Amino acid sequence: MSNSKASNEDRNKRHKKAMQRKKEHVDNRIAEATIDKGLLVVLTGNGKGKSSSAFGMLARSVGHGLRCGVVQFIKGLWECGEQKLFEDNPLVEFHVMKTGFTWETQDREKDIAAAVKTWEKAEALLSNEEIDVVILDELTYMLTYGYLEGTMVLDALKNRPSQQHVVVTGRNASKELIEIADTVSEVADTKHAFNAGIKVQKGIDY
Ligand code: ATP
Ligand code: MG
Repeated sequence: MSNSKASNEDRNKRHKKAMQRKKEHVDNRIAEATIDKGLLVVLTGNGKGKSSSAFGMLARSVGHGLRCGVVQFIKGLWECGEQKLFEDNPLVEFHVMKTGFTWETQDREKDIAAAVKTWEKAEALLSNEEIDVVILDELTYMLTYGYLEGTMVLDALKNRPSQQHVVVTGRNASKELIEIADTVSEVADTKHAFNAGIKVQKGIDY
Protein backbone atom coordinates (compact mmCIF):
# COMPACT_ATOMS: atom_id res chain seq x y z
CA MET A 1 0.00 0.00 0.00
CA SER A 2 1.40 3.36 -0.95
CA ASN A 3 1.89 6.00 1.68
CA SER A 4 -0.70 8.32 0.17
CA LYS A 5 -3.35 5.54 0.11
CA ALA A 6 -2.68 4.74 3.78
CA SER A 7 -2.96 8.41 4.78
CA ASN A 8 -6.17 8.76 2.78
CA GLU A 9 -7.72 5.75 4.56
CA ASP A 10 -6.62 7.18 7.85
CA ARG A 11 -8.21 10.52 6.97
CA ASN A 12 -11.46 8.82 5.95
CA LYS A 13 -11.58 6.95 9.26
CA ARG A 14 -11.01 10.14 11.22
CA HIS A 15 -13.70 11.87 9.20
CA LYS A 16 -16.22 9.09 9.90
CA LYS A 17 -15.48 9.24 13.62
CA ALA A 18 -15.83 13.03 13.71
CA MET A 19 -19.13 12.86 11.78
CA GLN A 20 -20.46 10.22 14.19
CA ARG A 21 -19.66 12.53 17.11
CA LYS A 22 -21.25 15.45 15.29
CA LYS A 23 -24.42 13.47 14.51
CA GLU A 24 -24.74 12.47 18.16
CA HIS A 25 -24.41 16.13 19.18
CA VAL A 26 -26.96 17.32 16.55
CA ASP A 27 -29.42 14.54 17.43
CA ASN A 28 -29.19 15.49 21.12
CA ARG A 29 -29.80 19.16 20.33
CA ILE A 30 -32.83 18.24 18.18
CA ALA A 31 -34.24 15.99 20.92
CA GLU A 32 -33.85 18.83 23.45
CA ALA A 33 -35.88 21.29 21.31
CA THR A 34 -39.40 20.38 22.36
CA ILE A 35 -41.13 23.78 22.50
CA ASP A 36 -43.66 24.59 19.77
CA LYS A 37 -44.69 28.24 19.56
CA GLY A 38 -45.23 31.18 17.26
CA LEU A 39 -41.92 32.95 16.68
CA LEU A 40 -41.06 36.60 16.43
CA VAL A 41 -38.23 36.91 13.90
CA VAL A 42 -36.45 40.25 13.53
CA LEU A 43 -34.25 40.91 10.49
CA THR A 44 -32.23 44.07 10.94
CA GLY A 45 -28.85 45.62 10.09
CA ASN A 46 -27.54 47.74 7.21
CA GLY A 47 -26.86 44.99 4.67
CA LYS A 48 -29.07 43.70 1.87
CA GLY A 49 -31.16 40.61 2.58
CA LYS A 50 -33.81 41.54 5.16
CA SER A 51 -36.99 41.81 3.09
CA SER A 52 -35.92 39.11 0.65
CA SER A 53 -35.39 36.75 3.58
CA ALA A 54 -38.83 37.62 4.98
CA PHE A 55 -40.42 36.88 1.60
CA GLY A 56 -38.45 33.65 1.45
CA MET A 57 -40.24 32.62 4.66
CA LEU A 58 -43.53 33.73 3.12
CA ALA A 59 -42.84 31.48 0.11
CA ARG A 60 -42.10 28.55 2.43
CA SER A 61 -45.25 29.19 4.43
CA VAL A 62 -47.47 29.44 1.33
CA GLY A 63 -45.82 26.26 0.06
CA HIS A 64 -47.08 24.53 3.20
CA GLY A 65 -50.57 25.96 2.75
CA LEU A 66 -50.33 28.32 5.76
CA ARG A 67 -52.47 31.44 5.89
CA CYS A 68 -50.35 34.58 5.71
CA GLY A 69 -50.61 38.33 6.00
CA VAL A 70 -48.16 40.91 4.66
CA VAL A 71 -47.98 44.56 5.58
CA GLN A 72 -45.34 46.60 3.77
CA PHE A 73 -44.62 49.93 5.40
CA ILE A 74 -43.00 52.71 3.30
CA LYS A 75 -42.94 50.86 -0.03
CA GLY A 76 -45.38 50.96 -2.89
CA LEU A 77 -44.17 53.46 -5.45
CA TRP A 78 -42.89 50.70 -7.69
CA GLU A 79 -44.27 47.20 -7.54
CA CYS A 80 -41.94 44.58 -6.06
CA GLY A 81 -41.81 41.08 -7.52
CA GLU A 82 -43.04 39.64 -4.21
CA GLN A 83 -46.21 41.71 -4.42
CA LYS A 84 -46.87 40.59 -8.00
CA LEU A 85 -46.34 36.97 -6.99
CA PHE A 86 -48.36 36.88 -3.78
CA GLU A 87 -51.07 39.56 -3.87
CA ASP A 88 -53.60 37.42 -5.75
CA ASN A 89 -52.79 34.27 -3.81
CA PRO A 90 -55.84 33.21 -1.77
CA LEU A 91 -53.56 32.28 1.15
CA VAL A 92 -52.06 35.78 1.36
CA GLU A 93 -53.59 39.04 2.50
CA PHE A 94 -51.34 41.79 1.13
CA HIS A 95 -51.30 45.43 2.28
CA VAL A 96 -48.91 48.14 1.11
CA MET A 97 -48.56 51.59 2.67
CA LYS A 98 -47.80 53.08 -0.75
CA THR A 99 -46.29 56.34 0.42
CA GLY A 100 -42.79 55.61 -0.81
CA PHE A 101 -39.70 56.69 1.09
CA THR A 102 -39.78 59.59 3.55
CA TRP A 103 -37.31 61.55 1.43
CA GLU A 104 -39.81 61.21 -1.44
CA THR A 105 -42.96 62.31 0.41
CA GLN A 106 -41.22 65.01 2.51
CA ASP A 107 -44.51 65.33 4.35
CA ARG A 108 -44.46 64.17 7.96
CA GLU A 109 -48.18 64.62 8.68
CA LYS A 110 -49.16 62.64 5.58
CA ASP A 111 -46.67 59.90 6.42
CA ILE A 112 -48.00 59.58 9.98
CA ALA A 113 -51.60 59.32 8.78
CA ALA A 114 -50.59 56.63 6.26
CA ALA A 115 -48.57 54.76 8.90
CA VAL A 116 -51.47 54.72 11.35
CA LYS A 117 -53.89 53.53 8.68
CA THR A 118 -51.49 50.80 7.57
CA TRP A 119 -50.85 49.76 11.18
CA GLU A 120 -54.59 49.03 11.53
CA LYS A 121 -54.14 46.29 8.92
CA ALA A 122 -51.23 44.89 10.91
CA GLU A 123 -53.21 44.99 14.15
CA ALA A 124 -56.11 43.10 12.54
CA LEU A 125 -53.72 40.36 11.38
CA LEU A 126 -52.01 40.20 14.80
CA SER A 127 -55.35 39.60 16.52
CA ASN A 128 -56.60 37.00 14.03
CA GLU A 129 -56.03 33.41 15.19
CA GLU A 130 -56.62 32.12 11.66
CA ILE A 131 -53.49 33.84 10.35
CA ASP A 132 -50.42 31.63 10.76
CA VAL A 133 -47.68 33.98 9.54
CA VAL A 134 -47.46 37.79 9.46
CA ILE A 135 -44.73 39.73 7.63
CA LEU A 136 -44.28 43.33 8.79
CA ASP A 137 -41.83 44.63 6.21
CA GLU A 138 -39.92 47.85 7.03
CA LEU A 139 -41.85 48.25 10.30
CA THR A 140 -38.80 49.46 12.24
CA TYR A 141 -38.72 52.82 10.39
CA MET A 142 -42.23 53.63 11.64
CA LEU A 143 -40.81 53.37 15.15
CA THR A 144 -37.51 55.18 14.60
CA TYR A 145 -39.31 58.09 12.90
CA GLY A 146 -41.88 58.10 15.70
CA TYR A 147 -44.78 57.57 13.26
CA LEU A 148 -46.13 54.74 15.41
CA GLU A 149 -46.04 54.49 19.16
CA GLY A 150 -43.49 51.91 20.33
CA THR A 151 -45.45 50.42 23.22
CA MET A 152 -48.56 50.05 21.06
CA VAL A 153 -46.59 48.02 18.51
CA LEU A 154 -44.79 45.95 21.16
CA ASP A 155 -48.07 45.19 22.95
CA ALA A 156 -49.74 44.01 19.73
CA LEU A 157 -46.76 41.73 19.04
CA LYS A 158 -46.75 40.36 22.59
CA ASN A 159 -50.52 39.76 22.67
CA ARG A 160 -50.80 38.02 19.30
CA PRO A 161 -52.08 34.41 19.07
CA SER A 162 -49.51 32.10 20.69
CA GLN A 163 -48.94 29.98 17.56
CA GLN A 164 -48.66 32.90 15.14
CA HIS A 165 -45.27 33.62 13.55
CA VAL A 166 -44.27 37.21 12.84
CA VAL A 167 -41.33 38.48 10.80
CA VAL A 168 -40.30 42.13 11.24
CA THR A 169 -37.75 43.76 8.93
CA GLY A 170 -35.92 47.08 8.85
CA ARG A 171 -32.72 48.75 10.02
CA ASN A 172 -32.09 49.84 13.61
CA ALA A 173 -34.46 47.47 15.39
CA SER A 174 -35.01 48.82 18.91
CA LYS A 175 -33.57 47.16 22.00
CA GLU A 176 -37.13 46.43 23.19
CA LEU A 177 -38.08 44.73 19.93
CA ILE A 178 -34.91 42.62 20.00
CA GLU A 179 -35.67 41.69 23.59
CA ILE A 180 -39.10 40.22 22.85
CA ALA A 181 -37.95 38.47 19.64
CA ASP A 182 -37.08 34.77 19.47
CA THR A 183 -34.76 34.97 16.45
CA VAL A 184 -32.79 38.08 15.50
CA SER A 185 -30.44 38.38 12.53
CA GLU A 186 -28.35 41.43 11.87
CA VAL A 187 -27.38 41.57 8.19
CA ALA A 188 -24.02 43.29 7.76
CA ASP A 189 -23.27 45.59 4.81
CA THR A 190 -20.01 44.06 3.64
CA LYS A 191 -20.44 45.28 0.06
CA HIS A 192 -23.34 46.53 -2.11
CA ALA A 193 -23.40 46.93 -5.89
CA PHE A 194 -25.28 50.25 -5.62
CA ASN A 195 -22.26 51.82 -3.95
CA ALA A 196 -20.24 50.93 -7.08
CA GLY A 197 -22.72 52.88 -9.23
CA ILE A 198 -24.73 49.85 -10.35
CA LYS A 199 -28.48 50.44 -10.89
CA VAL A 200 -31.17 48.55 -8.95
CA GLN A 201 -31.77 45.24 -10.68
CA LYS A 202 -35.17 43.61 -11.24
CA GLY A 203 -35.42 40.30 -9.35
CA ILE A 204 -32.42 41.00 -7.15
CA ASP A 205 -33.39 44.35 -5.64
CA TYR A 206 -37.16 44.56 -6.11
P1 ATP B 1 -33.75 43.25 0.12
O1 ATP B 1 -35.19 43.66 -0.11
O2 ATP B 1 -32.99 43.24 -1.16
O3 ATP B 1 -33.61 42.03 0.94
P2 ATP B 1 -33.28 44.80 2.47
O4 ATP B 1 -34.68 44.60 2.84
O5 ATP B 1 -32.24 44.14 3.31
O6 ATP B 1 -33.07 44.44 0.94
P3 ATP B 1 -33.75 47.64 2.46
O7 ATP B 1 -33.03 48.67 3.24
O8 ATP B 1 -35.17 47.37 2.73
O9 ATP B 1 -32.88 46.32 2.52
O10 ATP B 1 -33.49 47.99 0.96
C1 ATP B 1 -34.33 48.00 -0.09
C2 ATP B 1 -33.50 48.24 -1.36
O11 ATP B 1 -32.26 48.89 -1.06
C3 ATP B 1 -33.12 46.98 -2.12
O12 ATP B 1 -33.19 47.30 -3.46
C4 ATP B 1 -31.71 46.71 -1.70
O13 ATP B 1 -30.93 46.04 -2.69
C5 ATP B 1 -31.16 48.08 -1.45
N1 ATP B 1 -30.16 48.02 -0.35
C6 ATP B 1 -30.22 47.25 0.76
N2 ATP B 1 -29.13 47.42 1.53
C7 ATP B 1 -28.35 48.31 0.87
C8 ATP B 1 -27.06 48.90 1.13
N3 ATP B 1 -26.38 48.58 2.22
N4 ATP B 1 -26.58 49.80 0.22
C9 ATP B 1 -27.27 50.11 -0.88
N5 ATP B 1 -28.49 49.61 -1.17
C10 ATP B 1 -29.03 48.72 -0.32
MG1 MG C 1 -36.28 45.76 3.13
